[in-house]
Amino acid sequence: MACSSEDEKYRCRICGLKQNTPPWGENCETPTFNICACCGTEFGYEDNNTSAIKKNRNRWLANEANWFDPDERPEDWSVEEQLEKIPEKWK
Ligand SMILES: [Zn+2]
Repeated sequence: MACSSEDEKYRCRICGLKQNTPPWGENCETPTFNICACCGTEFGYEDNNTSAIKKNRNRWLANEANWFDPDERPEDWSVEEQLEKIPEKWK
C-alpha cells in the first residue's frame, strides 16, 4: 500500500514513533525489517496488516508502553501524543 504522506512514510505503524529511515521503504512497500526503538516491532513482519498492527499495539500498550531501547526515549515523551500521530488507516 503506497504512502499517503511524507510523515506517514516515517512513522511506525504500531506506536507512531518517527523513524530515521522509512520503515517500509521509499514506496511503503519494501520493509526494512529494522526494529522500532520504541515498541520493538520488526517492520515488515509484525505490521503488515491492520489486525496484526492492532494486536501488537494493544500488546505493547498492555505492557505499559515500554521502550524497546530505553536509551532512545526522549525526556518529555508522551505515549498519548505519539499515538495521535499514527496514520488514520492504521488506527
Ligand atoms: Zn514502534
